[in-house]
Amino acid sequence: MKANAYAAQSATTPLAPLAIQRREPGPGDVAIDILHCGVCHSDLHQVRAEWEGTLFPCVPGHEIVGRVTAVGANVTKFKAGDLVGVGCMVDSCQHCSACDEGLEQYCENGFTGTYNGETPDAPGHTLGGYSDKITVREEFVLRIGHDEKDLAGVAPLLCAGITTWSPLRHWNAGPGKKVGIVGIGGLGHMGIKLAHALGAHVVAFTTSESKRQDALDLGADEVVVSRNEEDMAAQAGTFDFILNTVAASHNLDPFIAALKRDGTMTLVGAPEHPHPSPQVFPLIFGRKSIAGSLIGGIAETQEMLDFCAEKGITAEIERIAMNEIEGAYDRMLKSDVKYRFVIDMATMDQAA
Ligand code: NAP
Ligand code: ZN
Repeated sequence: MKANAYAAQSATTPLAPLAIQRREPGPGDVAIDILHCGVCHSDLHQVRAEWEGTLFPCVPGHEIVGRVTAVGANVTKFKAGDLVGVGCMVDSCQHCSACDEGLEQYCENGFTGTYNGETPDAPGHTLGGYSDKITVREEFVLRIGHDEKDLAGVAPLLCAGITTWSPLRHWNAGPGKKVGIVGIGGLGHMGIKLAHALGAHVVAFTTSESKRQDALDLGADEVVVSRNEEDMAAQAGTFDFILNTVAASHNLDPFIAALKRDGTMTLVGAPEHPHPSPQVFPLIFGRKSIAGSLIGGIAETQEMLDFCAEKGITAEIERIAMNEIEGAYDRMLKSDVKYRFVIDMATMDQAA
């Protein structure tokens, strides 16, 4: 079936309209009309080939919400008319030990990303959510329990939400824990909301003084401007857990210093260039850990969506039209996102 998309033809050409094909739903597939798609910094890294291996044409977008238009004969969980979401994955092997544990993102045979993943469908790699239609196997489609009026703000939960939820849960953020969130962009602002909702004492670390009040409004108990050495030093040795969402290479040492003995800083930001190597002694003299975490599994994503629906949590968004995407990327590079851009897919027609 024919669909309209926005694609880059190379790392240096702007996104532009492209007619694409989506497969007709097979027996296990769900066909979806995309209503909104969030704009993740990963989209920018991928489309500008800051990460290795970008396949062109590249249609980014993995924070997808929309409405089911048709389902295959074997689909039991969804029917036409349902509001659904699709995140960063559209397939995995479903039989390795990671998939068996609901950790499809760590599939030993490699999960299929919503974009830039290998697929038998034309053109041989997956095309993402900057598009008005998508076909996805049932196992990778999520139920949405929020009110339809909040749908645009739900889109970012599919990546920014789960990427912060999964490590917060894994490292037991909750009552009695002091949790830092570094970088208050799309991921970081969700990290503040979710850590606060889980009952932790939340400290936002930002390079942008102008985000101080917003961070408090999002649920932070304290805000530290990380460029201020004295304020950083005052936090030394006090954190159980720090979630670092920064999209650029930076010095990790001041954050390691902020950890308690046995504390962990988990990196989810995936910058183009590596961080300068951290000092080893502060890790040794405190048995501290640096860890990483990749999005979250499908069952965990559903758990997070249900939690957010129950607590009335959505992302803080700025809606944009499809043809405003390059300007949105420019602002993202200046850390000027309040706090996630979401594309209104009804504007795809006027863009094409
Ligand atoms: P974003 O909206 O651009 O937010 C990143 C924030 O990092 C900025 O708002 C800024 O916050 C801070 N920052 C940017 N440049 C900085 C610098 N040079 N030094 C210090 N802080 C800086 O990006 P996002 O969509 O949240 O994504 C964040 C990163 O996570 C990206 O690298 C993305 O690819 C990655 N990611 C990883 C996963 C995963 O599974 N691990 C999933 C999704 C995204 P302040 O203004 O508050 O300082
Ligand atoms: Zn993402």
